[in-house]
Amino acid sequence: MALTVEPVPCLKDNYAWLLHDSESQLAAIVDPSEPAPVRRALAERGLRLSHILNTHHHFDHTGGNLPLKQEFGAVVVGPQKDRARIPGIDIGVSEGEPWSFGGHAVRILEIPAHTRGHIAFVFEKAKIAFTGDTLFSMGCGRLFEGTAAMMWDSLSKLMLLEEDMRIFCGHEYTLNNGRFALTLEPGNPDLVMRVREVEILRAKALPTVPSTLGVERRTNPFLRPHAEEIRRALGMERASDVEVFAEMRRRKDSF
Ligand code: ZN
Ligand code: FE
Repeated sequence: MALTVEPVPCLKDNYAWLLHDSESQLAAIVDPSEPAPVRRALAERGLRLSHILNTHHHFDHTGGNLPLKQEFGAVVVGPQKDRARIPGIDIGVSEGEPWSFGGHAVRILEIPAHTRGHIAFVFEKAKIAFTGDTLFSMGCGRLFEGTAAMMWDSLSKLMLLEEDMRIFCGHEYTLNNGRFALTLEPGNPDLVMRVREVEILRAKALPTVPSTLGVERRTNPFLRPHAEEIRRALGMERASDVEVFAEMRRRKDSF
C-alpha cells in the first residue's frame, strides 16, 4: 500500500505517528510532542516533512509544531474550532468539509470532551484513524473540557467506523487500561486474551497500538456500557448506557 504509518515514541508514553505516502512523497507527523525524535525518524528514512496534523491542542501533541514547521516549512493542520490554541496552524479542518492528503480523502470527525476542539483524522480507504486522546486501546481520554455525555457521543461516533479500521491513538496506556477493564469484566474472554497479548508486547517494549475498532468493541469497557457483566459489577443493571459510561470514567480517574 502507498500509505504507511510508523510510531515515533515521544516523551514518556506518547506516540507521534509518521505517515508516509510513497506515491506523492508526502510525509506527515501526527501529534508531535517534541521535535527531536521526529527529526531523527525523518532523517533515518530520508523523508522531508510536508505536514503536521494535530488532533487537539495539548502540549504533548503540539509541542513539536513550531520547531518542525520552521525547519521543514511543513503545513500545520488542526481543528478549526480550536485554531487559537494550535501553535502555527495553517489549515483549520471541520467535520463534513473535505480535506485530503496527497490523493487520500481524509474524513474529519469532531469528537469533543477530552478537549472542546478534539478531532479524529480518518483515512477511510487505507483504514487508518488517528483518534488522539479520545479513544485509546481499552480506554478513553479524561474529561478535561467536556461531560461524560459528550464523550459518550464522541465515542459513539467513532464506533460507526468499520470493524477493520485501524485505531492509532496518542498514548501507550494499554496495559493499565486493560488492568482496569479486567476489574469490570473478568469474564470477557476477548478481554482476557487481549490483556495477555498486551503483557507480552510490553515485556518486549513493543507498541500495543494500533488495534482495530473490532478489537476495541470487544474489549474496551468504555465502548461496552451495555455489557451485562460490567453493569452487574457496577450495580447498575437498569441504568442508561451514558450513566454506566460516566461511572466507569469516574472510577478510572482514581484507578
Ligand atoms: Zn490530551
Ligand atoms: Fe495526550
